[in-house]
Amino acid sequence: AIEIRDLRKSFGKLEVLRGIDLSVETGEVVCVIGPSGSGKSTLLRCVNLLEEPSSGSVHVDGVEVTDPDCDIDAVRRRIGMVFQQFNLFGHLRVRENLTIAQRRVLRRSRAEAERIATENLHRVGLAEKAHAYPAQLSGGQQQRVAIARALAMDPRLMLFDEPTSALDPELVGEVLAVMRSLAAEGMTMLVVTHEMSFAREVASRVVFMDGGTVVESGPPEEVFGSPREARTREFLHRVL
Ligand code: ATP
Ligand code: MG
Repeated sequence: AIEIRDLRKSFGKLEVLRGIDLSVETGEVVCVIGPSGSGKSTLLRCVNLLEEPSSGSVHVDGVEVTDPDCDIDAVRRRIGMVFQQFNLFGHLRVRENLTIAQRRVLRRSRAEAERIATENLHRVGLAEKAHAYPAQLSGGQQQRVAIARALAMDPRLMLFDEPTSALDPELVGEVLAVMRSLAAEGMTMLVVTHEMSFAREVASRVVFMDGGTVVESGPPEEVFGSPREARTREFLHRVL
């Protein structure tokens, strides 16, 4: 679970997050939508302290990551993150992409890391690509490998930052299908996305951000079906 309270983040004079309150319960899928520059990525990056919040608190599974004494590496080990850019290691084969952090960070044996790699490549439908290099894969396949790599670390929760935005349209569906099945398995997920139909179908809750604040949040049928705020209506009108 993630609990964010009065989170603020400034870059110099620019206040990018202006007091965000947001929680993601265990097993929930929360989708964050909103215009470019509204602070969505910054919010996500504050959860695992890739950005340091200016004030406010973030708890992950009860551990306050914003506490200076927190062992952030231990928390990060249990948070899977998938970005718009796949960030695979280009010089390593797919299987090694999945085993390297398991071995170095979790200290798993080669045999165990390889078994778990194979298991997770199956999970994303890419068992037959274990020996390929990333450059030999399509964008959609690379992103599925990136998801499998995150899953191989046994994450307690997953953060996704526009995982399909860099993909050709015909490749978006296969990545969303993997995310759908993760959601169905009960994975706790915080997802920044422009895929409104995914958010509508899969999200437990949708959060609309604008100008560094949460303007509106609720079940997808409410946020999409009968938005309360004018700013939400304008945004949805533009993107739907
Ligand atoms: P997009 O939909 O385009 O990805 P976003 O909602 O993810 O947008 P952020 O990337 O969180 O928006 O950025 C919010 C604001 O913070 C923007 O004005 C951006 O320019 C600014 N910003 C983000 N990172 C930095 C940084 N490292 N230094 C300075 N400004 C930053
Ligand atoms: Mg972003």
